[in-house]
Amino acid sequence: MTTLQDFRDPTEQLHGATHALEDAIHRLIGPRRGVVANAVHIGPSLYANMRSDIAGQQGTGLGNAARSLPPAWLAAIDWLHDVERTVHGWWIDTDASTESRLDSLSRWQWQKADLVQVEDMTARVAEWVRRAERLLDARASFPVTGNCPECHVAVTKSIDACGETVRSPVLRASVSGAHCQACDASWPADQLWALADLVRKQ
Ligand SMILES: [Zn+2]
Repeated sequence: MTTLQDFRDPTEQLHGATHALEDAIHRLIGPRRGVVANAVHIGPSLYANMRSDIAGQQGTGLGNAARSLPPAWLAAIDWLHDVERTVHGWWIDTDASTESRLDSLSRWQWQKADLVQVEDMTARVAEWVRRAERLLDARASFPVTGNCPECHVAVTKSIDACGETVRSPVLRASVSGAHCQACDASWPADQLWALADLVRKQ
């Protein structure tokens, strides 16, 4: 079947796809800017944040009793393994770090024949960015008691490191928005009041 996309100029298409890949990679490994108290702060990249979050949750390793491994930590470890394994497959260089491989990919002169590959990589990187933001957000979030307005589930069950079932509210909110852990629905910061209203009326 012919789609609209097929009529686009291939050079233009490649240019757009390459730009989207650069953009996605920058969101993952580029320094992050944030405005706090009217001043612009430049912080470490999302990738660096994830790595330090994992290290922080692991503890100091100075002979402390083994700490239980929270599900968030395991999810972060899974995330890191997925990123590293995939990127190392994309850019074969035995000495390069994951960040420098990504940087090389973002600077590569892609050819028209690479278009599908470039688009696939962009989708993958964009998904890593979304997941990392979710995971870091969950660490700075608080549970909201009530049914999710989308899936109507209130409580989720998970297994902790000791093998015990833990029940926790599906809705979690932070300054940047809210998220349902059951159906993956999310609400940006400016919809938090609307969400709170819906939950209150239940
Ligand atoms: Zn839900």
